[in-house]
Formats: sequence, C-alpha cells, structure tokens
Amino acid sequence: EEQPSQQQVMLFASPGAGHLIPVVELARRLTTKHGLAVTVVTLAGMSDPATDAAVLSSLPATVATSVLPAVSLDDLSPDIGFGTLMFELVRRSLPHLRAVMEGGGGGEVTALVCDFFGTAALPLAAELGAQGYVFFPNSFAMISIMRHIVELHGDAAAGEYRDLPDPLPLPGGPVLRHADLPDGFRDRKDPVYAYLVEEARRYGRADGFLVNSFEELETAMAETFKRDAEDGAFPPVYPVGPFVRSSSSGEEADESACLEWLDLQPEGSVLYVSFGTGGALSVEQTAELAAGLEMSGHRFLWVVRMPSLDGNPYALGTIPGDDDDDPLAWLPEGFLERTRGRGLAVAAWAPQVRVLAHPATAAFVSHCGWNSTLESVAAGVPMVAWPLYAEQKMNAAILTEVTGVALCPAAACGDDGLVTREEIAAALSELVEGEKGGAVRHRAGELRQAAARAWSPEGSSRRALGEVVGKWRAASSASKQENST
Ligand code: UDP
Repeated sequence: EEQPSQQQVMLFASPGAGHLIPVVELARRLTTKHGLAVTVVTLAGMSDPATDAAVLSSLPATVATSVLPAVSLDDLSPDIGFGTLMFELVRRSLPHLRAVMEGGGGGEVTALVCDFFGTAALPLAAELGAQGYVFFPNSFAMISIMRHIVELHGDAAAGEYRDLPDPLPLPGGPVLRHADLPDGFRDRKDPVYAYLVEEARRYGRADGFLVNSFEELETAMAETFKRDAEDGAFPPVYPVGPFVRSSSSGEEADESACLEWLDLQPEGSVLYVSFGTGGALSVEQTAELAAGLEMSGHRFLWVVRMPSLDGNPYALGTIPGDDDDDPLAWLPEGFLERTRGRGLAVAAWAPQVRVLAHPATAAFVSHCGWNSTLESVAAGVPMVAWPLYAEQKMNAAILTEVTGVALCPAAACGDDGLVTREEIAAALSELVEGEKGGAVRHRAGELRQAAARAWSPEGSSRRALGEVVGKWRAASSASKQENST
C-alpha cells in the first residue's frame, strides 16, 4: 500500500535579492495555500550571503532551503558581463542541483521551477521525470522579447545573429524603441546575446511558465499568450502575481525613522524617490535631482545611494552598511538645510513596501525595477518613471504606454542624457496636480483594486496558481501509476 507521499517542489533561484524575493513569495504561497513541500535552492558566489539569509529568513518554517556549493568562474573575464556570469554560474552548478534533486529525503521531485537565468536546468527536470517550469520574476513583455529572438534566429549559429528590429512592437504590449530594449538585447555582438538565444530556444520544451504579473496589468499580452497556448504555439504562461514582499516585523532603527517621519506628513503629500538596490546616478545627476526636488516645492523622502563615479548606472557593490561612505555627503551644499522639515534624505535603504503603503505617500520616482513597479501598483501609487539599466526601460514603456500609471520625463526615458531640474520639477508637478497626472493617478487607483482582486479568493492569479498545482498533482499521480504497473 502506497503512502500518499508529499509533493516535492524545488524552486531554483538565481543570485540577487531582486530574484530571490519573488521566489520566496512563490514558495510561501505554494506551502501555505496548497500544502506543497517546497525547497528553495540558491547559488553561492554572486550574491551577498547576509542579504540572501535575510530574505530567506522570512520563509515559513516548513519551507526547506539549500545552498548549492560554490563553483569557480575564475576562468571567465569579469568583462563578459553580469548576465553571462549568471548563466555560466547556473550551468556549472547543474551537477550540484542534480545531487539535491536525486538525494531529496522527502521523496520524488514533482516539479522543478527555475527562473529566468536557470532554464539550463529544464532538461534535468525532464530527465528526472519532474515537471519543468520557468518562473519569470518580471513581465509577460520579457517573455515576449525572448520568443522574438528565437523567431528571428531560427537555428542560426552564434556568428549569424541579427539585431532586433527598431522599433520592435511586442504583440499585445508596448512598442519598444532600440533604447528601450533590455540590456543584452541591444547588441547582437554582446557575449550575453548568444546565451539569451540559447536560453530562449529551450522555452518551447518547458511544461509551463509562471509570471509575476497579473491579467489586468498586461491584459492584451496575457490574452495573446493564452491564445498561443491554446494553439500549441507556446507553453501555457500563468500570471500569478503580483507578489509583493510582506513587510518584515523587525525593522531596523533607521527604517522606523522613515515611517515616523511619514506619520507627521499630511495625507498624499510626499514624493518617494528611490532607484532600487543597484541604481546609481552620476554626481551631476544627483545634484540636478536635488535641485529639481527643491524647485518642485513638494515634500519628499529620498533614498540616496552612493553616486556612480564611472558613468555606470549599476553599482551592486554598495550594500547598506557595507562601507563607511556616506551618500548624503554627495548632496549639494546646503540642500539638507534648505529642505529641512519638508524633505527627508536617508542613506541607502528605506522600508519601501511600508513607505508605499503609507497614506502620506503621493507618488514614487522610481527606477522601474519590476518588484518596485508591482509594489507601487499594489499600493495604488502613481509613478514618475526613471529607468536606468537591465529591463527597466521596457518596464517604463509598459507603465507609461500600456497601463498608464506612470509619467516619464523625456530625458529620463530617452538616451541617457542629463535629466534637468526643470524637467524633474515639471514632471513631479504634473503627476501630483496636473491634468495628465490626474488620469495617471486615477489609473493607479483602479490598478490597485485590480491587483487586490487578482489574489482575492476567486481572483485570476490565485486561480492560475491553483491550476498549475493541479497539473503538478495530476502529473505526479500519473507517473506513480506508471511505476506501479
Ligand atoms: N527596496 C527596499 N528599500 C530600498 C530599496 C529597495 O525595500 O531602499 C526593495 C524594494 O521594495 C524591492 C527590491 O528592494 O522589493 C528592489 O527590487 P526591484 O526589482 O525593484 O529593483 P532592483 O533593486 O532589483 O533593481
């Protein structure tokens, strides 16, 4: 007589808090809502272990975690870029992932869910009889671009790649200008391009996709993907978001200082300004932003990070508390004094989910990282889009063109020129009190309700995740029957 052994699901997360946070939310829901036995598997070597541990510590105790042993990337030049290193790290870690999957004390693995950088693990899932799923921590639009590069290249070899068309209209989504394309997609000679094509070629063999989006955020795209799944043109893509991190209880002292300050501000009066965990402005741009905030006359809460001194908008090295450098020291002379009372500048970090949910918060000047985007949408906070790197410009295009919950100053969404103080102040005023801004604010309110509906008892995202779990259960019992005959 067979024991009803528990469904084992492995979630394989690529490095970086921005990837791990939504995976942790997925794990939480699979356990608490569906009673699955979940293991979150992470990789060592390319993320800060303390940050990973902090993110993982919010998991329910029933979720197991496993860190794969480090692998060497020493033979690769660091110049090949962050994305390439991520893909290589995953590939080299596959033997360790196999060992964890085969060794699984809790029984057979029913499903392996990898994320964007992890699809090299899909063949392993197939080989071990597990369902192979891909979890996209970002938008439908991102999957759409990946499909596009496969269609463009058929079985072309690495030397024969072509550039994506400019502009690139995504079916059911935004029209992307060349500058809006995510990093790695703008230049076919970039070493990561070959990896992207190869990753995307594996997509057709996935059993399904989960995407951290929801039907009403990317409505036409979601419909396009649904039709393609019905026609067998692409695996089913289930929108299961928005996953917004539940705020942790043990706030740091400086974190509660932000909230206490917000408590003292009038309702709907504060602009929250943040560029995520990696965004860095130049010294000149930092000064211009300060001047723009000052000029706008609005209240603000600005998470100031160390400026970029080399022109790179991405600086993951500066982890909060990591060094003695004080980002506030880079603000223009006298700025803090002149804005005292109506502005609060904090170094490196704010409890963002709680800041966005705070009634005093009126708008978000954001780098449009997808987690920040979803957090803002879930809180009904309209945005000024100021994308910097990765797929942020595409996210900004979705927010401005498709969903209408953000305004974008032309220079911020264009080709990396300086965004002047006048433009900043004008965009802020338009968003908070202008007519165009009124439509954006209204849309943000509507989308907040839609986001809440998506995870209500009969909501679209909750149902979609339930459907996936049902498929996993069915596949597992089918394979058991096969084994017992
Ligand atoms: N975050 C935060 N406080 C900060 C900056 C970031 O809590 O001062 C959180 C934010 O709420 C989000 C994540 O860090 O959950 C950043 O993810 P996102 O995808 O927006 O951007 P990334 O940092 O990956 O560019």
